[in-house]
Amino acid sequence: MKCEKCPFVFFEFDALPTVTNFPQIIIPRADHPISRRNLSDNAVRALYRLRDNGFLAFAVGGCVRDLLLGREPKDFDLATNATPAQLKKLFRNCRLVGRRFRLAHLHYREEIIEVATFRGAATVEELPELPAEGRSRGPSIVKDDGGMILRDNLFGTPEEDARRRDFTVNALCYNIVDFSIIDYVGGLDDLQQGIIRTIGDPAVRFVEDPVRMLRAIRFAALLGFEIEAENWRSLVELSPLCANAAPPRLYEEMLKLLLSGEGERCYQLLRRSGVFAALFPAVNSWLESETDLFPHVRFGRALEVVDSRIAAGESFSPPLLLALLFGEYLEELAATLRRSGGFSPQEALDAAVARFAEELAPTVLIPHKVALGMRGILTGQRRLSVTPGRRPLSFITRPDFGDAFRCLQLTAESPEGKKLCAWWSDYLVANPLPPATILQGASESGSPEADSPKRKRRNRHRRRRSPGAEGSPQ
Ligand code: ATP
Ligand code: MG
Repeated sequence: MKCEKCPFVFFEFDALPTVTNFPQIIIPRADHPISRRNLSDNAVRALYRLRDNGFLAFAVGGCVRDLLLGREPKDFDLATNATPAQLKKLFRNCRLVGRRFRLAHLHYREEIIEVATFRGAATVEELPELPAEGRSRGPSIVKDDGGMILRDNLFGTPEEDARRRDFTVNALCYNIVDFSIIDYVGGLDDLQQGIIRTIGDPAVRFVEDPVRMLRAIRFAALLGFEIEAENWRSLVELSPLCANAAPPRLYEEMLKLLLSGEGERCYQLLRRSGVFAALFPAVNSWLESETDLFPHVRFGRALEVVDSRIAAGESFSPPLLLALLFGEYLEELAATLRRSGGFSPQEALDAAVARFAEELAPTVLIPHKVALGMRGILTGQRRLSVTPGRRPLSFITRPDFGDAFRCLQLTAESPEGKKLCAWWSDYLVANPLPPATILQGASESGSPEADSPKRKRRNRHRRRRSPGAEGSPQ
């Protein structure tokens, strides 16, 4: 069977079993396109070191999915039966992280490779037929009364580990011993069909970890896949539970969605599913209202612009992204505050940003530094709207000038806006500054690198050709 989305998977299944009783399928090296050359050198070396020390060692999750789809993996995750303590002994560059589940991070100059010990089944009773030997038991899983996982530190077998993952397409394993792919849950078939499907009952899996709802949306948007019908029904029904996840995690996850390069598609799915309303209730009501009979469309439009710029290789700092998305909402809120009592324009904007961050804090926790950066960019719009304004030379040397000017450039649609952009461009040409002075803005106001990733992107210079990229009919 061949599909447009996954041109290299050719396996024929007569009658596909359901996910819960799916038999293990092993695809030998000769029948799949992933070669060691497609993995990072560090990932291959780590896999070999594990194997040579007698451990099982798999590349797992998103990297196997992406390589089969002909996409460049964002990072490489490994799974093994070595315990965190054994990993620490085996790798000098290993740091153990994570409270809920101990993970090993192998630190290399250009990337961090995450190595997880195989996770066990939810409860021992669920898999009574599996032999206990080879499993090292930590303290078992702890759920709250509603079914959400609070602690999860039970080691297990490769199959148990695969079944604990979120979606079938994220549970494929690449085995370094014979370079085969192992599919325990029907992931290859869903990859062929372009389907995002939880492993097991979606209602249970989404309740266990509501962030999986956001992940389902991100993968569907990014890969151009459909969310399976029952999964979608559960997602819509359970969307209010998203608000129960940890606010800093939801902030990180939202950034991943909106900066994925398919932010607009993610936004549509977030709105349609109800997840957006759960996370941003006040903004959602505002989006559903109109101002002077005009619908609020700037949010979606801004994401289209962000997507197209990301496709062209540009990056966005979180404050700039938030200013682009929430700028119109905040300006209207500031105007309302001004009308209601004695604020100066700047005070009203400060109060609007403070109220916005405070209202969001129980769901999406915007770091203080990022909120300040966003406020600086919005304040900068007022300063940019007057030419030459007061002390323009000092303005363009401010660390947040770069992001403020980009915000103007990306939002200026009217002839006046375009004229302003041209004036400031000319002014910058006439008053050249050392490049670092302007670029500083992105890092000081909270760039994605500064704020989030514990995991670094792979060095672009070391980019490998992925199998699907080799002349495949994408
Ligand atoms: P990408 O790195 O491209 O964003 P990914 O699928 O690799 O996508 P990661 O966040 O790197 O996502 O996670 C690696 C793997 O860990 C996933 O593929 C999945 O198998 C598993 N995983 C991640 N988050 C969860 C979760 N919330 N529940 C269950 N399994 C998860
Ligand atoms: Mg990954």
